[in-house]
Amino acid sequence: MYEIFARLLAERGLKPADITRETGINSTVFSEWKKGKSKPNTEKLIKIAKFLNVSVEYLSGNSKIIRCPKCGIEYDESDIEDISYHKQEHLKWEAATKKFGVLYCNSIENERIKAENRNLRDDNTLTFEERYKAQLEIFRCLFSRSVNANNFSLEHVMFDDYVAMMLGNDSYKKNIPDDLYNALVKKYGIKPGISFGSIYYVSHKNMILTKKDNRDIAKDIDSIMYKLTSKEYGPAAYNGENLSKESTDLFREELEIALKRLKLINKEKYNPNKNKK
Ligand SMILES: [Zn+2]
Repeated sequence: MYEIFARLLAERGLKPADITRETGINSTVFSEWKKGKSKPNTEKLIKIAKFLNVSVEYLSGNSKIIRCPKCGIEYDESDIEDISYHKQEHLKWEAATKKFGVLYCNSIENERIKAENRNLRDDNTLTFEERYKAQLEIFRCLFSRSVNANNFSLEHVMFDDYVAMMLGNDSYKKNIPDDLYNALVKKYGIKPGISFGSIYYVSHKNMILTKKDNRDIAKDIDSIMYKLTSKEYGPAAYNGENLSKESTDLFREELEIALKRLKLINKEKYNPNKNKK
């Protein structure tokens, strides 16, 4: 078991002293462990595993499933097919990083950085510059997820364009304080492309919707629109008064885009010829 620990350290260019510094675990724990005298208790194992970004099961030698700290792909080290799958994905990650800059592809790290920066952004005791920088880090996290969701496609838009699209995204922009929003728009502008959520979808070139798909989508839209805007029940109706025709049409368009995307994603997901994910 110590061997797994030692190998992980070597792979990441770390020393036991680095773990001690980060986790506060006494270095004698490691030397005892190395000699086979005793192994760290569960609490320490959890800390070490967390720092090394592996599962406790993996660190304990009970599992061969590991998540690459760089590309974020999870794979089984004892499965040759899985290993070559990771290699291929890792190369894509490398190329994507070269083109797009830093990508936070580890989902746990991504969430942590995002949460941290949300707190900074909304902390009014900080300077404008600090809050502005925090918002850009949030965008960097969302951008990473978007590139990741597109399988590291190099056709993904660049960071600056992505920011402009998010600034034009009505569902997102209300999260950003006005002063930051105005400054960001000045620098990045506003672009269409992401009207829903935070993922930019690279066009699905080989994927087209059939007539039946479009019929199904039209039916879904009608049914959703009916529920949303009907006077008595709809959450989009105010005080029993229906939304204006303009708002309704706009919403209908958004819904159509979202449902079409969803359909394409599902088709891709269930296409047996696609690489496994
Ligand atoms: Zn990797």
